[in-house]
Amino acid sequence: MDVKMSDAVKETVGKRGLKEPDVQDVVNTAESAKKKAVNKSGKVLAKKVINNVTIYADYNVERGILKSHANLNSAYSHRMALGKIVNATEGSDWTCANCNEQIKLGTVEMSYIGVSRNGPALVCPKCGDSWVEEYLATKTIAVAEGLFEKKKA
Ligand SMILES: [Zn+2]
Repeated sequence: MDVKMSDAVKETVGKRGLKEPDVQDVVNTAESAKKKAVNKSGKVLAKKVINNVTIYADYNVERGILKSHANLNSAYSHRMALGKIVNATEGSDWTCANCNEQIKLGTVEMSYIGVSRNGPALVCPKCGDSWVEEYLATKTIAVAEGLFEKKKA
């Protein structure tokens, strides 16, 4: 599936040190495996671990007569590795495309350079998949990664 992005989104992708082919890979993998989170407005959140970095694509699928394409809203990443779900609390607007189950707000194990912590994520209790939302990945998680790196230095 082709991924289209505006100049502003392209700039964000570049600023965040992400490569456009990797973002394309995230979208293609999610679309072919049907492993993604979809919200009520049709927005899709997909992720893939590439070289130990979890890369996310936030996009909408635009269905054409001959072929569909993805309109990328944003892309971001984190280096923490997501582990087991610790808990799942309230519901969310998201559905797991893999299970067709409602995704919950919850907590997952996150580990990075030998340090483990629990952090907030969207979780699917059925298949155990989890997704970190953009505002958390680019703020809280990024700060935590920096602190862990300092401790190791
Ligand atoms: Zn699921």
